[in-house]
Formats: sequence, C-alpha cells, structure tokens
Amino acid sequence: MASASVKVAVRVRPFNSREMGKESKCIIQMSGNTTRIINPKQPKESKSFNFDYSYWSHTTPEDVNFACQKQVYKDIGEEMLLHAFEGYNVCIFAYGQTGAGKSYTMMGKQEKDQEGIIPLLCEDLFTKITDNNDNSMSYSVEVSYMEIYCERVRDLLNPKNKGNLRVREHPLMGPYVEDLSKLAVTSYNDIQDLMDSGNKARTVAATNMNETSSRSHAVFNIIFTQKRHDSDTDNTSEKVSKISLVDLAGSERADSTGAKGTRLKEGANINKSLTTLGKVISALAENKKKKKVESFIPYRDSVLTWLLRENLGGNSRTAMVAALSPADINYDETLSTLRYADRAK
Ligand code: ADP
Repeated sequence: MASASVKVAVRVRPFNSREMGKESKCIIQMSGNTTRIINPKQPKESKSFNFDYSYWSHTTPEDVNFACQKQVYKDIGEEMLLHAFEGYNVCIFAYGQTGAGKSYTMMGKQEKDQEGIIPLLCEDLFTKITDNNDNSMSYSVEVSYMEIYCERVRDLLNPKNKGNLRVREHPLMGPYVEDLSKLAVTSYNDIQDLMDSGNKARTVAATNMNETSSRSHAVFNIIFTQKRHDSDTDNTSEKVSKISLVDLAGSERADSTGAKGTRLKEGANINKSLTTLGKVISALAENKKKKKVESFIPYRDSVLTWLLRENLGGNSRTAMVAALSPADINYDETLSTLRYADRAK
C-alpha cells in the first residue's frame, strides 16, 4: 500500500540568552514557504529549501508566518487528528539539534498559549468526541508513553518498570512493546496527569551543549478506537487508529558536544535511530514519487523505526517539524537539519 509523503514544517525559534550574549547573527531567512540559510563564513553563499510550512518567531520581516503554538497545532496537529478520525494511523515528530525547540513544539509549556502539539491535540480529541452527537458512535482512548534510549525501551507511565522492555511483533497489529502500560483515559485531565508524571520520569542528562539536553526519544501514543453500532442490523464496526507523537533526541553529532566514552556510545545509538528514521522516510517519499512497488524500507534497523512502522508506512499519515536555531554559531547543525527535512518530502 502506498503511503502519502510526509508533511514537513520548519520552525525557527527566537535567540536564546547564550546566542544573544555572543551577539550571534541570524542566518535564517524565510519568505512564503522558502527557507534560506546563509553561510556565516561566506555570506554570499546561501541555500534555499521549500517546505509545506515555515514558521518564524522574530518580529521582522513582517510578511512571514509568525507562528504561535496554536497556529502550529492548527496546521499540523489538527490535520493529523482529522486523519485519525478517518481511521489512519498518524505520526508527528520533531527533529533538530538540542535546544532548537523540539520539546517546545511537541509539549510546550504549561502556561497560557504555550502548550504544544501534544496537549492541544489531546484536548481537541476530547472536544471533538464530546461534540459528536451521533448516538451510534462510541469512542475509547488509551495512552502509552515510552522513552527509547540507546535502543532500549522504558515505560514512562510505570517508571518502576526500569527494565529493558522487549519489542515483539503481533501477527496482525505489527510491532509492539511487551508489558508497556496502556492506560484508558476518559478526559483531557486524565491525559494531562499522565503526561506530567511521564515527563518527570524522562531521562535527562547534562551535556556541554545544554544542561537539560535529552538524549532519548520520547514517544507518546494514543490508541483511538471508534465503534459504530448499527441498531437496525445490530452490527458493530470498529476503527482503531494509533497516533504517535515523538520528541526525538537531539540530532547533534556526538563529536560536537564533546562526548566521550559512554556518551559517545549513546551518540552512536541515538544517531542510529535518527539515521534509520531518515532513511525510512526518504525511502517512503521516493516510493511515493515514483508511484511504483515499494522498495525495501529498513524499519527493522532501529527500535524507533520498527515501533513506528505502522505509523510511517502503509495506512498512515506523517508530519515532521524540523526545529532550527536562528544563530550563526549553529550553522552546521542547522544546515544538516534542513537537509534531513528536505529528504523527507
Ligand atoms: P529541544 O527540545 O530541541 O532541546 P526546547 O524545546 O527545550 O529544545 O527549546 C529550548 C528553549 O527555547 C526552551 O526554553 C524553549 O522554551 C525555547 N523555545 C524553543 N522554541 C521556541 C519558540 N518557537 N518560541 C519561543 N521559545 C522557544
């Protein structure tokens, strides 16, 4: 089955205090859907990319899309949620260097108008369920939240389960994590409580780049079941969609963060998932373009892509947000993020 190509957005964040302290220059320009990056060493050299959405967060120029959290949700999150109501599996993931704005985009902050895609999507899911007056429909929502760190899976909703959970394959449902908690929720508040405790359980460790840099991938899954009961025939039909919302580990190369020993190994493992994810989505994009029989997709090469198999290929819809720093000091990483995003189209 052919899959639709990935919807790709890029989002540049404001300068942080470190960049301001160094009087960094902005090397990103956006106009319409075009994003340009300027090489700070050779300012005449620039590269342009086109994406489905480009989000700016600086005050000038005024013609570009100054993006608030709600706007990003409306464009990307709501579209994916509507696909889930249609019965598709969906996946939204945020890619980029540590500190570029992945968590801000996916989770955001618990302040007014600062919530990211995950809380806004969960809230909207329950609003849409409540607003539906069709008595023949009933819905159930379950969530799971896991962390993939060094190719190992940890349950964020049951931190006592410290172990390395096994990844298995169900003959019909595809890859899954054995013993991962899957909790039924009936309101947005239920989900919010689970997200809060899951976020507290996330592994964070300092690197030279950023004190709270995260080197794990966080995967928040919503299993959404819609049942229709036909009272005339007494038949019930069911549609199950899995919504995977992924905050990826920082994409910076191990060497640029001064990593040594264990950290370097972590870097290699994290990048294995990121490299494989890149290969998978570009292979899917190529297949889509060529409209021919699918060539081999290397899902099995990393835990992340194996678990996301049903959300990336087949009957699914995928969106990616590439998070960018505006600063000249991050030129190499930002260019590599743009290239990664470009291959997903
Ligand atoms: P990452 O998850 O990629 O490591 P974060 O999302 O934690 O990065 O972002 C780093 C910092 O920048 C945070 O303090 C965050 O609130 C801020 N930030 C990121 N993106 C934006 C944005 N678009 N607008 C405002 N602040 C942002």
